[in-house]
Amino acid sequence: MTPPTTYDLLVCGGGPAGVPAAIQAARQGANVLLVEKSGMLGGTTTLNGVAFPGLFDAWGKQIISGIGWELVRQAAEDSGSPLPDFSEVAERHWQHQIRLCPTTLAMLIDEAVLESGCELQLHTMVASVSGSDGEDWQVQLCGKDGLQSVSAKWLIDCTGDANLSALAGCELLLPPELQPGTLMFKLEGYQSAEIDIPAIDALIPEALRSGELHSSDLGWGGKSLAHLIHSYGQNSIHIPKVNAMDSRGKTEIELTARKAVIRVVRFLKKQPGMENLKISCCASECGIRETRTIVGETSVSVDDYMSGRLWDDAVCYSYYPIDLHTDEGLDYRVLDAGTVPTLPLSAMIPKGRKQFLVAGRCISGDRLANSAFRVQGSCMAMGQAVGAVAACAALSGIHDATNVPRAEWKSAIESQGGIVPEPKG
Ligand SMILES: Cc1cc2nc3c(=O)[nH]c(=O)nc-3n(C[C@H](O)[C@H](O)[C@H](O)COP(=O)(O)OP(=O)(O)OC[C@H]3O[C@@H](n4cnc5c(N)ncnc54)[C@H](O)[C@@H]3O)c2cc1C
Repeated sequence: MTPPTTYDLLVCGGGPAGVPAAIQAARQGANVLLVEKSGMLGGTTTLNGVAFPGLFDAWGKQIISGIGWELVRQAAEDSGSPLPDFSEVAERHWQHQIRLCPTTLAMLIDEAVLESGCELQLHTMVASVSGSDGEDWQVQLCGKDGLQSVSAKWLIDCTGDANLSALAGCELLLPPELQPGTLMFKLEGYQSAEIDIPAIDALIPEALRSGELHSSDLGWGGKSLAHLIHSYGQNSIHIPKVNAMDSRGKTEIELTARKAVIRVVRFLKKQPGMENLKISCCASECGIRETRTIVGETSVSVDDYMSGRLWDDAVCYSYYPIDLHTDEGLDYRVLDAGTVPTLPLSAMIPKGRKQFLVAGRCISGDRLANSAFRVQGSCMAMGQAVGAVAACAALSGIHDATNVPRAEWKSAIESQGGIVPEPKG
């Protein structure tokens, strides 16, 4: 059967935000196409090996559930990882992240996407977007077989890097500084307890002077390899000055990141007790913490976030400390007890645009707020919410997301297990 070329929704990017967006809309009966540039769904969680999504609870209570959570919960169970007890308040935020096998999650996502009735195209990117507000969008996709034209009533940008928004001419914000990326990798062949880390750290100044190591190879603080050695690689090195917006920039990131890993490995293999060190696995792409964001109808500020502002158009909760990686170290600020921020639909609508929504780490907010709401649990909740709003709109011929009755999208989200904050009064 020839696939349809007109869709209610085109979701671009199959990461933590895009997958729930596509599944939610398809389960509501919308005709959905999900396009993903790589060969695997799950985005940073799977492709980049950041397989510890968070946070789904706050202050003893689950605040994010629904489509993303169900996939994460099932993947954790199938991976044999115990779930944290959400009725307890975690002392440190990361204690309630969910550890899972990324490949297991990717396989569960495949099943859920296909079962929802959503059409999926992997290895596909958007090449161009045309159309004006109130009309269907004309989109050229680029795949292995060249260009393909489709049209869609609604576009949802879940690329993380705001690629679809850029192609559609939306106003964007690129901070002068960006957080570093990280290539996740795992080392084996040594026992960290047997390694004389102070002796290794004493060699670092000379290694930095000679160029054998770069300070960003040392990640946080830039002075010690203790974290990297103790954690056997993982989330340890920083890749500075990342440009994840275009293919040239992404190419440079991947090459720079792999060079950093091999530099560290070659340096460490010369150290006593680490002669047999080897890389047991490495993510296929470098993880990106920050790119540009859209300029939305509303922007979430760090004050909004830290004060737990309850927006009138809140679609979901978000809970994470401010976690901005800078050259000087980590800007880390925990929320006051009982505070649970919310995220507004209007921060997911590019300014002045209709039939266009955004979810994930490129929604509208300042850098500090973004450093918290960019996490996977929040992206999943945003994705499910915009999928619901766009499906409600597309199925009833509404062009403006703000005109979709709240009761409708709220009940659509709740019917798929999601949690929607209740505005005061
Ligand atoms: C090193 C690191 C550590 C982190 N630690 C944590 C943590 O501990 N816990 C946590 O919850 N979060 C953590 N995060 C943050 C979190 O993983 C991301 O912010 C989150 O995954 C963003 O989700 P997203 O869906 O917006 O984007 P992404 O995860 O980036 O997914 C975007 C998807 O879109 C695809 N795509 C991109 N461009 C295109 C295009 N043009 N066309 C088609 N498809 C495209 C990508 O391949 C990808 O699948 C970390 C991130 C990094 C990099």
